Amino acid sequence: MTAIYEIAQLGADILRQIAEPITDVHSPETRDMIIALQTTLATSQGVGLAAPQIGLSKRLIIVASRPTTRYPDAPLMEPTVMINPSYEILSGEQEKDWEGCLSIPSIRALVPRYLRILIRYTNQHGGPVESEQEGFIARIFQHEIDHLDGKVYLDRVVDTRDIVAESEYFKRLRD
Ligand code: ZN
Repeated sequence: MTAIYEIAQLGADILRQIAEPITDVHSPETRDMIIALQTTLATSQGVGLAAPQIGLSKRLIIVASRPTTRYPDAPLMEPTVMINPSYEILSGEQEKDWEGCLSIPSIRALVPRYLRILIRYTNQHGGPVESEQEGFIARIFQHEIDHLDGKVYLDRVVDTRDIVAESEYFKRLRD
């Protein structure tokens, strides 16, 4: 199964549902979901993707920070599959920075996120992982977890003037 999935767009019910935990990491269904998510992300300009975005209401995300045309300043990391992810806040400090979402095209907004978090997840081999993250990767992680809880980043925007068209965002980047 190497199908590229269509990405659910804002307004789709699946983006507002609470995703179910994955109970069997080694099942063929889980394997297939991981491949579907990896394949779909690889063909997009995204730096992360959550299973609900491809129509699967399961607690599975990929975080794949890399510089792209959408995020030219993103740090480079191996695309990482995270099953049943969660996080703990290490510092109450939040910072606003730009986010976008493949499910909400053509829009960018300033979103407050925790700067330092402790993330926990099961990797695709079934092993537990715990690591401290900060900055942009911590931001992607919080964004993707929101997708598992039926939230999108626009729900976190504190001032509607922090929402801009993507074309304006790219103009600001050039300045
Ligand atoms: Zn998103």
